[in-house]
Amino acid sequence: MDSLAERIAANYAAIEERVADAGGRGRTRIVAVTKTHPAEVVRAALSAGLRDFGENYADELVAKAETLRGEELRWHMIGHLQSRAIKGLVPHVAVWHSVSRAKELELLARLEVRADLLVQVDYTGAEGRNGVPPGEVAALVDHGVALGLKVTGLMVVTPQVDPPARAGIFASTRELGQSLGLGEFSMGMTDDFEWAVREGSTMVRIGRAIFGDRPAAEPAGAR
Ligand SMILES: *Cc1c(COP(=O)(O)O)cnc(C)c1O
Repeated sequence: MDSLAERIAANYAAIEERVADAGGRGRTRIVAVTKTHPAEVVRAALSAGLRDFGENYADELVAKAETLRGEELRWHMIGHLQSRAIKGLVPHVAVWHSVSRAKELELLARLEVRADLLVQVDYTGAEGRNGVPPGEVAALVDHGVALGLKVTGLMVVTPQVDPPARAGIFASTRELGQSLGLGEFSMGMTDDFEWAVREGSTMVRIGRAIFGDRPAAEPAGAR
């Protein structure tokens, strides 16, 4: 392993340990978020043994997936879905975390997508945020199931509030999903993943704690 791969391996091991300490051993998968990092960073992560990678932007996911074609890995789409980008993503995405609209489900069904889908919940109601209000989640999940899609869980990105308030949001998301018979919960990022794991997260999405600060500023509205 080169030094980048060694650093990634050490950071990942530390996250694994913190996930285990929070009660997630054997339940919580770690998705390494590689947005804004070049494909070489993903390659280093692969040699460090990581297999699940998350990307926010369709073009970036497709470009890296093509560069790394043939590698044994799973891509997770965690960002806002633009209808025109969905078709290009289909051959590459193993888990869609951020489904937020009926028309996305309809397009995914038309493309006969068999991958796992999660519906993103938004508790803020703020303009420009991805996700559906909790009260609309059941209808969207039902719609996906009726279309023959494999809707397996919910995803949430918390607002920048104190950790205890985030814990409440994670717990509400899990309770809402369980009430609908769903078992996957994509919850928790670098700043709050232990809170999420304690509330039942099955997938944490970790960027900075594995790869360090991102090289470039994120475009506005990226979430
Ligand atoms: C960027 C991003 C992450 C990872 O964030 P970190 O704070 O770097 O761990 C997780 N989920 C989503 C939706 C993101 O946009």
